Amino acid sequence: MASCYAEVFGSEEPHFLESCSLCRKHLGRNSDIFMYRGDKAFCSNECREEQIESDEAKEKSRKVSARSLRKKSSEAAKDCKTVRTGTLVVA
Ligand SMILES: [Zn+2]
Repeated sequence: MASCYAEVFGSEEPHFLESCSLCRKHLGRNSDIFMYRGDKAFCSNECREEQIESDEAKEKSRKVSARSLRKKSSEAAKDCKTVRTGTLVVA
């Protein structure tokens, strides 16, 4: 079990700057590396942009759901004004 665990980590870590985070293409020592957020490496600008786009899409959907949650709590506050004593401010 222990050796299996080490194997998983051993195969993940060296790939940090050795292969593209998106297409897994090997990044040679002399090839360009495109960094993103300081912890992801890509073989090309295209791969990096694709990662950025998918991250932004994820963030957008997260923001939308956060907004709808906030809307619900402010609607609830309208219904019951006595609850508006600071407890609803969860910024
Ligand atoms: Zn790539």
